[in-house]
Amino acid sequence: MGLNVKNKDKIAVVGAGFSGAVIANLLAKEGFYVDVLDSRDHIGGNCFTKRYEDSGVVEHVYGPHIFHTDNEDVWRFVTSLVKFRSYTNRVKSTVNGSVYSLPINLHTINQFFNKVLSPGEAREFVSNMGDQSIADPVTFEDQALKFVGKELYEAFFKGYTEKQWGVSPRELPASILKRLPVRFNYDDNYFSHRFQGMPEDGYTSIFEKLLGHENINVVLGRDFSREDRKKYKHVFYSGAIDAWFGFEYGDLGYRTLEFKREVYDFDFQGCAVMNYGDASVPFTRRAQHDYFSPWEEAKKHVVYTEYSRASARGDTPYYPIRLVEEKELLKKYVERASKEVGVTFVGRLGTYRYLDMDVTISEAMNVANQSIACWLEGRRPPSFFVDPLA
Ligand code: UDP
Repeated sequence: MGLNVKNKDKIAVVGAGFSGAVIANLLAKEGFYVDVLDSRDHIGGNCFTKRYEDSGVVEHVYGPHIFHTDNEDVWRFVTSLVKFRSYTNRVKSTVNGSVYSLPINLHTINQFFNKVLSPGEAREFVSNMGDQSIADPVTFEDQALKFVGKELYEAFFKGYTEKQWGVSPRELPASILKRLPVRFNYDDNYFSHRFQGMPEDGYTSIFEKLLGHENINVVLGRDFSREDRKKYKHVFYSGAIDAWFGFEYGDLGYRTLEFKREVYDFDFQGCAVMNYGDASVPFTRRAQHDYFSPWEEAKKHVVYTEYSRASARGDTPYYPIRLVEEKELLKKYVERASKEVGVTFVGRLGTYRYLDMDVTISEAMNVANQSIACWLEGRRPPSFFVDPLA
């Protein structure tokens, strides 16, 4: 251990999701005493999973989480904590009375246009449908119109996206659509990453491992106020950045989700995730959670129907909206936060970015390692290790 850690060098980590749990774990291993405080009554943030008695199924309480990454360090890290089972996310979409395969692949294209195109023909066909007058797509809609054309866009993306984000895809950034690949073969793996899997006993088992270190003290059901920071050598804050400052400049916009949970004696939909592209269907997707643990024999089948809406104070924030207006507001909070001494803002809520689990973990590992490097050099860790405005 390179650091001369004293007992009084207590660190606070606010939030027991991936950002907080990874930082706490790495600092605890370095000899620090860490208080992890979370306002909820459970660890794991929105990745929390739980086996319910009435279903017997490990359920993703805050919606589907499928682990996927290209980052070998992250994969090695998570698989060293708990056993992962191989799992491939295959998603279907119900559109206008038919069921299609997602992400858009050769099967989707051939079925949708009632054709038998080869990969090369499909590439040319779709490219001809794309609007080539759009040189550099900035919005979600432009990105879609350029790469898949009007028909596929309207069927698979327009309605879903309006329901999910509550605004027109003309207002959303192209980056959201860039999350999804378009394939000209029959590969229907939703993700293109090298590593993909599911923790055998659910995500909560990972958090139990991370936070189980003897130097870590987990306090649940506890809010953390700005004043509390004075009791600690340093605070790693993974809560919402606007909440830290008492929403002084206004509320940053989030989408939240509501789930209708139903338990059935029969296989309800025959797959894990079924999206609904039509604007006329009020929900975005249905997830059947017994399909998230295909190695278990399900006696019951549990279905979560997912509704998206604007998040109000007190709701669980899921997706940061980051439209022009929010970015202006974010800028004010970031300027303010940059002057905050002894606090580092991390994660999806702390930096107000749409982050996947693997990126969250990778950034958290970096925050912990860089913070240790700062202390070794006699400096305080900065307010941010990534630029939330980038
Ligand atoms: N999307 C869509 N239709 C779909 C699935 C996704 O239009 O059937 C769009 C939608 O805007 C969504 C984005 O693509 O927010 C990213 O989708 P992803 O499945 O990655 O969302 P997540 O699982 O993170 O909610």
